[in-house]
Amino acid sequence: MSSTGRKIHVLGAGLVGPLMAVYLARKGFQVELIERRPDMRKTDIAAGRSINLALTARGIRALKGVRLAEEVMKIAIPMKGRMVHDREGHTQLQPYGQKPEEVIYAVSRGLLNMLLLDAAEKCDGLNITFNRRCAGYDEKTGALTLQDEGTGAQETVETNVVIGADGAWSALRKSMMGAVENFSYAQDFLDYGYKELVIPSAADGGFLMEKHALHIWPHKSFMMIALPNTDGSFTVTLFYPYKGENSFEKLTMEAEVTAFFSEYFPDALPLMPGLTQDFFANPTGALVTVKCRPWHIGGKALLLGDAAHAIVPFFAQGMNSGFEDCAILNAMIEGDNPDWQAVFEKFSAARKPDTDAIADMAVENFTEMRDSVTDPRFLLKKKVGFEIERRWPEKFIPRYSMVIFHDEIPYAEARRRGALQAKLLEKLCADIDSPDDVDWRQAEKLVGEML
Ligand SMILES: Cc1cc2nc3c(=O)[nH]c(=O)nc-3n(C[C@H](O)[C@H](O)[C@H](O)COP(=O)(O)OP(=O)(O)OC[C@H]3O[C@@H](n4cnc5c(N)ncnc54)[C@H](O)[C@@H]3O)c2cc1C
Repeated sequence: MSSTGRKIHVLGAGLVGPLMAVYLARKGFQVELIERRPDMRKTDIAAGRSINLALTARGIRALKGVRLAEEVMKIAIPMKGRMVHDREGHTQLQPYGQKPEEVIYAVSRGLLNMLLLDAAEKCDGLNITFNRRCAGYDEKTGALTLQDEGTGAQETVETNVVIGADGAWSALRKSMMGAVENFSYAQDFLDYGYKELVIPSAADGGFLMEKHALHIWPHKSFMMIALPNTDGSFTVTLFYPYKGENSFEKLTMEAEVTAFFSEYFPDALPLMPGLTQDFFANPTGALVTVKCRPWHIGGKALLLGDAAHAIVPFFAQGMNSGFEDCAILNAMIEGDNPDWQAVFEKFSAARKPDTDAIADMAVENFTEMRDSVTDPRFLLKKKVGFEIERRWPEKFIPRYSMVIFHDEIPYAEARRRGALQAKLLEKLCADIDSPDDVDWRQAEKLVGEML
């Protein structure tokens, strides 16, 4: 096998690119990992779109596949559930699962990215080039055009196989759109943007709110969340409409921001001394779903992670699904000289229904987080759902748990089963107000018939 045949170019050293590069290098491939930005371990640059992220079972499993999970866990904070804050500042913890191990983990994006870069750098046959932007890909010749971000100079490199992990605005995908006949592409922006803010640590470095929870301030049409960081601070994210009566466009002066927080987030306001400064200094980010097809050009090029399927963050599965991509693709690559076209076809066919499913569930979950978590009927069904899971665990697992904790259940299957379970819960809870009133004989019958 020629050396070019064993060489793979991976575009993007964000979260997914380095993990895929490590998988490939450990299989003995020669990997060129190419990143547009400078090396974040040496320069003070923001790591990307959110300061911290929730890591869940699918992502952890993929990290285990290259023995990185243990190291990542050292920088992770377990979160047991949603801590819901009301307008009076009262809080209520809604557990994510019902077993002790059913927790999700807050991780700093920057630390995680650096850990992945370190792991990639340690691999034999893996080379990372920073400050090089992919400026185009010629699908006929396999030539990649790379631009030096410092000098602007361009060079063309020959490739055998290119994997585009270059994010939601992928340059590889853009080239594919021009080259592939009938390339389908859809981008769907929410009418909401997001703004990142901070609750700093206490003077002694401790946490000013419960550390082991994802904090949520739900307000039906908008919400704010906060995830803990290892330094005692919380990264706070406000999800708010761009336009309208309650919207970012109405918050143009410091007094308006303070009044808004005082009305809707009264317990958070005193914990945010830098609020108004951060509010106007930090950008308002967009929330987009990207779906496209095909994900590959023959055996030459493949899209992975956000480049193939960017999703909104309300199920915390963007990175997790991208990491899962890496593990699934890795398992399909067999032998020293794989038939890349067959591998890419198999991967896309297997994976696309699942990433479409999580994309749709992520949008649906926005309503759950900002609105339903305070709805007594939602809470009733959640409790009843946990009890059904306890009684018939092989038949019923709450949809949230299937997505977050059950990496053996593909997303599309979680969606299908989740829809049936929702109907069952609807029937079972139609005429009751408390989990104590459930007719368990009827429940057993419905579980047998419907699931
Ligand atoms: C507010 C918010 C919160 C989120 N929270 C979560 C969460 O809790 N859990 C979760 O799982 N997911 C979350 N996500 C989603 C997650 O951020 C993404 O799914 C994840 O970053 C995708 O990884 P990626 O490597 O595919 O893309 P990215 O992380 O975007 O990395 C792409 C890399 O490619 C580089 N690049 C771009 N263009 C080029 C080019 N032309 N040439 C070379 N390099 C290039 C970029 O510089 C970047 O380093 C969240 C997203 C947002 C917006």
